[in-house]
Amino acid sequence: MKRIEDYIIAVPDFPKPGVLFRDITGILSDPDGLKLTLDTFYKTLENVDFDVVVGLEARGFLFGVPIAEHFHKPFVPERKKGKLPRETVEITYNLEYGTACMEVHKDAIKPGQRVVIVDDLLATGGTAKAAAHLVEKMGGKVECFAFVIELADLKGSEVLDGYRVESLTKF
Ligand code: IMP
Repeated sequence: MKRIEDYIIAVPDFPKPGVLFRDITGILSDPDGLKLTLDTFYKTLENVDFDVVVGLEARGFLFGVPIAEHFHKPFVPERKKGKLPRETVEITYNLEYGTACMEVHKDAIKPGQRVVIVDDLLATGGTAKAAAHLVEKMGGKVECFAFVIELADLKGSEVLDGYRVESLTKF
């Protein structure tokens, strides 16, 4: 029987030399792989009490939407600045070179709501931590992070210390 990691394609030297990119399109292109991944997410989150799913652009949408549908909860896209049409709340954070700015609709998360943040992959944890700060800026509480993949060597889970982190696979 295949495991989730068997559906993930390792791509050397992408997006730049020396980087081994973990490509989740191998999950999406195989109905058995997608079913296994989603069913594992559903089981993992079964005993987490939450009100809202926040998916991080763009691959966090692919898994976040079915999770929200499964648990009958609202889905909220967190997007790069300038993509969302209505009033937003934003957060700027540091990247390796420069900064990035992400936003969500202002009415998407209400004070006191418990949030699950979904993305495909946890690397250094910078993206996820900024997403948590954005949720908290809006008065929400991060109940759990859910990733398909965690790159354990990069120690992103240490950056997310104090939060519940669920990763379906680790490399
Ligand atoms: P971090 O901020 O360093 O944790 O990087 C995580 C973000 O970069 C996530 O939004 C991922 O989608 C993306 N990312 C970094 N490396 C990979 C990879 O090997 N495969 C897919 N996405 C990646």
